[in-house]
Amino acid sequence: MTTPLHGQMMDVPLTVSSLLAHASRYFGATEIVSKRIEGDVHRYTYRDCEKRAKQLAQALIALGVEPGDRIGTLAWNGYRHLETYYGTTGFGAVCHTINPRLFPDQIAYIVNHADDSYVLFDITFASLVDVLAPQCPNVRGWIAMTDDMHMPPMSTAASSYEALLAKHDGNFDWPLLDERSASNLCYTSGTTGNPKGVLYSHRSTVLHALGASLPGAMGLSARDSVLPVVPMFHVNAWGIPHAAPLTGAKLVFPGKDLDGKSLYALMEAERVTCSAGVPTVWLGLLSYVREAGVRFSSLERTVIGGSACPPAMLRMFKEDYGVEAIHGWGMTEMSPLGTLARLNWEQTQRSPDEQRRLLEKQGHVVYGVDMKIVGADGQELPWDGVAFGDLHVRGPWVIDRYFRKDDSPLADGWFPTGDVATIDRDGFMRITDRSKDLIKSGCEWISSIDIENIAIAHPAVAEAACIACAHPLWVERPLLVVVKRAGLDVTREELLAFYEGKVAKWWIPDDAVFVDQLLHTATGKLHKLKLREQFRDHVLPSARDVENCPLTDRMTAGSGPTPAPE
Ligand code: AMP
Repeated sequence: MTTPLHGQMMDVPLTVSSLLAHASRYFGATEIVSKRIEGDVHRYTYRDCEKRAKQLAQALIALGVEPGDRIGTLAWNGYRHLETYYGTTGFGAVCHTINPRLFPDQIAYIVNHADDSYVLFDITFASLVDVLAPQCPNVRGWIAMTDDMHMPPMSTAASSYEALLAKHDGNFDWPLLDERSASNLCYTSGTTGNPKGVLYSHRSTVLHALGASLPGAMGLSARDSVLPVVPMFHVNAWGIPHAAPLTGAKLVFPGKDLDGKSLYALMEAERVTCSAGVPTVWLGLLSYVREAGVRFSSLERTVIGGSACPPAMLRMFKEDYGVEAIHGWGMTEMSPLGTLARLNWEQTQRSPDEQRRLLEKQGHVVYGVDMKIVGADGQELPWDGVAFGDLHVRGPWVIDRYFRKDDSPLADGWFPTGDVATIDRDGFMRITDRSKDLIKSGCEWISSIDIENIAIAHPAVAEAACIACAHPLWVERPLLVVVKRAGLDVTREELLAFYEGKVAKWWIPDDAVFVDQLLHTATGKLHKLKLREQFRDHVLPSARDVENCPLTDRMTAGSGPTPAPE
């Protein structure tokens, strides 16, 4: 064995703090604009942001927080949340963003599982904190992200963020950290049971930010003004709070107002060029611009992902408003960026139909991600756009194992995504189905297994399957398919009412249908794929109720869960 000849370049660790330090030093005057919970618009610069992030780091260290400790956040997109992204990770603590839309019990589980030492929250979540605090005895302090004047009335003893920062001067040097140490933590829903933690490292976060910024990805630069609509509690807002300082892009945060009118006004006022979010949010924005008869004067492109983007939405952005809508796919376990549908030069020379077909897919991998599809026997399937199989990925920003879980989720070194896909000769991936038993309503998960278990507890139900059904607003909504017990009866209304008080309202299926028998696989499991095919054209009553949906009149086949082969 010969000893490898090592390169002789500096071994500078890739740290999250280096992203903000870079922006502060080289794009120091570039603005960060936030719509605040307090009601006004706040503006300052990357230079100001770094100083305050350092003040926060000093404050947390003074409170006894140590490298490796987790700091939770329950917050909208805003400058204080951005400061927390850096003021925690910058000295080695872990920034743990928590989804406030989950049920309080799940949030309490997450806070306790992560063992958060402090939790910072926006004042809109004060009453939620009052519910959580008694269930989370190990949290040493709750910090309201506001000033003394705006402290909300609470039963929990909480301190004000601004008062904490005011005690420190920001005279602090970011320490050099091991790039493999943990930086951020996000939880994702399991098919049943408790959420699972994905613990990112400094190295994975910086590499992901570089990948997300590439011209073939979001293509961010210092000439962009970027507005992440995707919440900072959803996989770190898809990496934008890291990619923007890396590239020097101006950052615009919408706070809690994600309706079409508010987003449009902010986009126009701040000359936003690039944005990112889930289809449901864009539906609200498109409805607003269509009704108001207004146009985008600066928006050039927007990334649409998190759920399958209806082809009609891509077309409407492009043809009616001249905005490039980029369909993307990823997941919490992938930091989240996996693929984006952007064409190379040769593809732009093809017929408009051919280009459209490519753009409607979930897209091409970004450098750093490797993907393959495998059949039931684990063998790789061809990239012909027809063969479909389980989608597996690997790469430096893909999960190795879940936080505090010993068993590896990997298969032969690849992460099985739980999505089913085709890959064509161009390397464009298309999601055709999902093998994991989950339904994605808007951008939040519903466990079909939990819904089925409740149905089965009804005395008149012999067997039940819960499947995703296409919905014009929420992309997917749950449909319950039920076999009644012989001799017993239950109505659709009674069955749906049976869920009241057992799950959150938005988990209750939108419809229930009765069948004589359910399809099963050879191994006796419910044949969800066949069931979804069977109910592909089922129209949910709630879908009929969606008024003013700009896409309804343009909705075409192909956006559902099982599109026809090419
Ligand atoms: P999450 O971890 O909550 O971000 O969810 C990731 C999952 O959302 C993926 O595994 C897919 O099932 C689904 N997903 C994300 N983006 C898309 C997309 N563009 N099309 C279809 N499904 C998507």
